[in-house]
Amino acid sequence: MLLQRAPRSTLRNGSGLFKSLFHSTPSARAQLDHTHQFVVVGGGAGGLAVGSWIRRKYGENSLAIIEPADTHYYQPMFTLVGGGAKKMDATARPMASLMPPDAKWVRSSVTEFRPDENYVVTADGQRVGYEYLVVALGLEVKYDGIKGLQPLLEDPQSMVSTNYSPLYASKTFQNIQRFTGGNAIFTMPPLPVKCPGAPQKIMYLAEDYWRKHGVRDETTVTYNTALGVIFGVKKYANSLLKVVEERDIKLNFQRKCVEITKNEAIFENTQEGTIETYKYDFLHASPPQGPLAMMKGQPISDEIGWVDVDKTTLQHRRYPNVFGIGDCTNVPTSKTAAAVAAESAILKTNIAAVVKGLNPSALYDGYTSCPLITGYGKTILAEFDFNANPLETFPFDQGKERRSMYHLKKDVMPELYWEGLLKGLWGGPAIARKIMHLGTRE
Ligand SMILES: Cc1cc2nc3c(=O)[nH]c(=O)nc-3n(C[C@H](O)[C@H](O)[C@H](O)COP(=O)(O)OP(=O)(O)OC[C@H]3O[C@@H](n4cnc5c(N)ncnc54)[C@H](O)[C@@H]3O)c2cc1C
Repeated sequence: MLLQRAPRSTLRNGSGLFKSLFHSTPSARAQLDHTHQFVVVGGGAGGLAVGSWIRRKYGENSLAIIEPADTHYYQPMFTLVGGGAKKMDATARPMASLMPPDAKWVRSSVTEFRPDENYVVTADGQRVGYEYLVVALGLEVKYDGIKGLQPLLEDPQSMVSTNYSPLYASKTFQNIQRFTGGNAIFTMPPLPVKCPGAPQKIMYLAEDYWRKHGVRDETTVTYNTALGVIFGVKKYANSLLKVVEERDIKLNFQRKCVEITKNEAIFENTQEGTIETYKYDFLHASPPQGPLAMMKGQPISDEIGWVDVDKTTLQHRRYPNVFGIGDCTNVPTSKTAAAVAAESAILKTNIAAVVKGLNPSALYDGYTSCPLITGYGKTILAEFDFNANPLETFPFDQGKERRSMYHLKKDVMPELYWEGLLKGLWGGPAIARKIMHLGTRE
């Protein structure tokens, strides 16, 4: 071990102590390739949001971001790409154009965390030291979690697609257009899922498209979900159940997709313990998801592989100079960019406090949001907290389908993402919510 770790209680209050730990052993520094006051792992939504803020607050040369990808994707737009309302190009920007100025961009993947010695190791063998670490690695979509899925996704002729990858979201719309009727199946895996509404949003868009293009009468639309509810918040679940009924969609709970062949989808009925086979002519798959494989067994991970943070302060439970944000953490809220925005506001306050030697004081309430698109021009804007209680921004009933919320999702949120969140300037709608409710809501 290069550096001894101090007891949690001492570390919590002492940025000076971090510094002395960090600077005290010349031999430790000699073994590191480079060191930074802040290292952010991952240049996705959370990494860039916090990184941009760090660069502004702590100045030049304070920050390194470790990120292997050349392209950053605005993933929430994949649903609209799958539905033909946006082009894939609009979701992608070069990573270089989004990196905060003067941040060192380490173009590699982290393979190992050494929090006792305050450094990480990258795939190309660099040891990168830090005083403070922010982990924003995202999660892994496990295509091999459904047998037979991957080759069918790759086959341009197959009627199988997924919006969960930038490689296949455009294929979803091609298949929607090619479909001439029959059985259309949409799958939802067990949680966790990035934006748990996404597997059904594409169904509503496809159903609307087929209705407008005269193939709906020849079509059976089925939503097979591994869960026991259509949505985890009662208010919005009730609204969605009405939509499903009005649109004549078959809804089956506790059906977990385990295999897809050329013409059939095989589901485990987890309630009955039986296997059911469905013939399909169109299939949108939402693969199972989980922590990155490399996170399993890391000292900063919990037993599953999520970054183990306090769910309210987002500070690591054992390493106080480590913070987590977004999909990679074990914070028990729906994994969305909206959650990332609200978490980024908490992290800014708490990182600034810890750097000053204070305890983190800002507390995350679990705010997350899912714009539930129910058709072209219709959206139910779900917003809720840790306890699945609605936490709505607007002073009207967001449980209703509204055109205004569709435009918010399609036209306003992308700008908020690129110009606000990724630049560290958007911390979620908490302030707007207070203003719109005239200070009556937190
Ligand atoms: C189809 C779909 C629809 C969605 N719809 C919505 C929506 O309507 N509303 C909403 O709010 N959210 C939505 N989301 C979810 C949202 O996109 C994510 O929750 C959000 O992007 C999470 O941000 P993050 O920073 O945690 O992870 P990401 O943005 O995924 O970033 C993770 C980054 O880490 C990098 N990385 C991975 N491994 C390593 C490594 N070993 N070392 C270093 N870097 C690494 C990756 O390259 C990536 O850049 C949707 C997502 C999908 C896929």
